Amino acid sequence: MATLDTPLVPSPYLSRLCGGDFLLKLEIGQATGAFKLRGAANAVLNLPADAPGVTCCSTGNHGRAIAFAARARGLKAVVCMSKLVPQAKVDGIRALGAEARIIGESQDDAQFESRRLADQDGFCEVSPFDDPHVIAGQGTIGLELLQQRPDLETVLIPLSGGGLAGGIAATVKQIKPSIRVIGITMDRGAAMHESVKAGHPVPVTEVASLADSLGGGIGAENRHSFALCQKYLDDIVLVTEDEIYCAMQAHYFEDRLVCEGASAVGAAALIAGKLGKTLGPTASIITGRNVDMTVFTDIVSGRDVRLGAMMLKGKPHAA
Ligand SMILES: *Cc1c(COP(=O)(O)O)cnc(C)c1O
Repeated sequence: MATLDTPLVPSPYLSRLCGGDFLLKLEIGQATGAFKLRGAANAVLNLPADAPGVTCCSTGNHGRAIAFAARARGLKAVVCMSKLVPQAKVDGIRALGAEARIIGESQDDAQFESRRLADQDGFCEVSPFDDPHVIAGQGTIGLELLQQRPDLETVLIPLSGGGLAGGIAATVKQIKPSIRVIGITMDRGAAMHESVKAGHPVPVTEVASLADSLGGGIGAENRHSFALCQKYLDDIVLVTEDEIYCAMQAHYFEDRLVCEGASAVGAAALIAGKLGKTLGPTASIITGRNVDMTVFTDIVSGRDVRLGAMMLKGKPHAA
């Protein structure tokens, strides 16, 4: 179940906006279409030999990675998700032979069900972000980044539960303390941002977002990812749905990339002028490509997109 060392490629368009090298770390090349395979594979390989099965909650990509890794080890997997998870992601998980359970309206409801399964059936539960093996797996992206470009000065990381940002930030800052690491997330329901501001984990209301992979809380009992983000992130920047929409168009038309809203938040912050001036060589993690293709084609065609109760006004890509 090997994970890939992924390419770090230049974006000429975003480099022009940035005024220096702007590079894309293409995690969309992983076998499950997202970086989450790094952490999930590490966690599943470290489960006890007699584990009866594995369970998790997920916004989709962690579940797919767990399903993939569990199949490779011949383990049963049950993935718990809320109704907010796009059907494309649910289908991808079922196609790998895992059971997909749709529970409730939020990631918290899904988490409750996976905990119940762990208690009741003795399944091993693997958190999407608050697990040392998961965080270490995601942190390998940081090792690759500095091998590929030792001169990197800024890393932009899509931020949700903080396993990715915490793992990468802890890794790159130990190798190169001067590097700046910025977490980026959507402005509605930004759990890690609210928690870092408050100094402790706080709950948020989850709403539909183009960055559906960034939804959900960080857990009131958070043990690892919150402390890492609090300690190692230099800043957290918030982007609007409109800004994510434009950034998905930019990645498509300028970089020829099909990627999720969650992957486009780094570009969104740059295009919106929210990153300040002195970035130096910058890498943005293109975390996943498991986007609903109907929504995606609507966006690149400049059409309106419905997000729960909200209607996002369409507009064509303006280079
Ligand atoms: C899970 C995920 C993230 C965020 O990772 P966290 O460790 O939860 O912060 C970003 N992008 C995509 C595509 C994801 O699936």
